[in-house]
Amino acid sequence: MDMTQFNSSTSNSLIDKIKENGLCTGCGLCAAVAPVGAITIQLNASGYLRPMVHQPLSGETEQQIKAACPALVIKHAPQVSGQHPLWGPLQSVRTAYSSDAEIRRQGSSGGVISALADYLISSGKVDFVAQVATSTHDPLANELQISRSREDVIRAAGSRYAPSAPLQSLRALLDSGQRFAFVGKPCDVAALRQYARINPQVDRQVPYMLSFMCAGVPSIKGTHEVIRKLSSSPEKVVSFRYRGDGWPGMTRAVQADGQVFEMDYNSSWGTILNKHLQFRCKICPDGTGEFADVVCADAWYGKDGYPDFTERDGRSLLLARTAAGEALVREVMQREVIVASDLAVEEIAKMQPYQVDRKRMVLGRVIATRLARGVAPHYSRLGLVKASLAAKPVVWLKSAWGTWRRAKGEAQ
Ligand SMILES: Cc1cc2nc3c(=O)[nH]c(=O)nc-3n(C[C@H](O)[C@H](O)[C@H](O)COP(=O)(O)OP(=O)(O)OC[C@H]3O[C@@H](n4cnc5c(N)ncnc54)[C@H](O)[C@@H]3O)c2cc1C
Repeated sequence: MDMTQFNSSTSNSLIDKIKENGLCTGCGLCAAVAPVGAITIQLNASGYLRPMVHQPLSGETEQQIKAACPALVIKHAPQVSGQHPLWGPLQSVRTAYSSDAEIRRQGSSGGVISALADYLISSGKVDFVAQVATSTHDPLANELQISRSREDVIRAAGSRYAPSAPLQSLRALLDSGQRFAFVGKPCDVAALRQYARINPQVDRQVPYMLSFMCAGVPSIKGTHEVIRKLSSSPEKVVSFRYRGDGWPGMTRAVQADGQVFEMDYNSSWGTILNKHLQFRCKICPDGTGEFADVVCADAWYGKDGYPDFTERDGRSLLLARTAAGEALVREVMQREVIVASDLAVEEIAKMQPYQVDRKRMVLGRVIATRLARGVAPHYSRLGLVKASLAAKPVVWLKSAWGTWRRAKGEAQ
């Protein structure tokens, strides 16, 4: 991004420009680096989490935001190794599932993220795991949960296809002086990794960053639409889950009167939620968690060349991206916390065809955004040129054109 456009005298205009141009991911990092109360994270009218600035920010705060905010920059460190043109830094590729049957069932796919989180706590490698769970006061909202037990981890298991801002409490987590693992979306982890470059406290206190592949964050309005499609209404729902409790598991809403409504994953994600993605997710260069130590995804089985969503026992795709991540994976395999099998890197594309397309298209999309809006995030060392060269030129141009038209129209 051209930073000169953001060299304003107050940070209000920095944050406002990010929001106006639809570049905010909603991770919450800006609230954590600003003085307490200066920025809060709130749902906007479109149903996305966005920062609200309440007082002018210092130049120092602004510099920190510019260095780490994923709306402005997504950039690997120069020393990052093992870059695969599609899948980013890789130490190993496996499929796996938790050997704890309950964790495997409650997890989104094979429950591997939860198995790792549980192991990190029970082995004392961390004091807690910072992860997103359903809010304790609103069954449709997400909030950061400090997990210190297997029960906590199981409560947070499963994907929630709605906005989350897990980094907004980062300052308090670091101020605790404790060591913790962080679980977040790829953009949350990229923000934290980039912030670690300017705040050494992060590397001292966060030995593990875990993530999952992500196709984008839907507005909370997507969840409301799912509930209405189920012939219920958001006000009546007391418990809601998007999936998990099986693989992929059903989307399930429970009302106060005990009525239960269900919809399969293909219908909820594939026909409703994925129509509500925020603009920034459509120009995301990192749907696969390249900045994490360990990443999980659905290790879908194939049918007729497409992922097959037939209910089965869960299985995660498991990528170790750093030496620390690989050491952790080997340790949990040895201790039989997970059951894992090696996988050829070429197999990932069959399980995650959408992520292949995204990586190949994103350079065109981000150029289109810059042309349409005059600003775009700065992406670097992500292998985007190489990925683009593998795309069919006509498809690449059509995708860029589609983004240009969208960028002219919607902001979010
Ligand atoms: C918005 C979104 C988009 C996704 N897109 C894809 C995709 O394109 N391809 C794919 O294979 N997988 C995708 N997933 C992830 C996938 O659904 C599984 O989470 C992944 O397979 C890991 O499964 P698991 O059983 O190992 O994880 P689990 O053991 O179930 O752990 C899931 C972890 O994710 C965390 N989490 C859940 N929701 C959120 C959230 N909104 N924000 C931050 N953290 C959260 C939980 O705290 C938990 O720690 C997406 C998930 C989300 C939330």
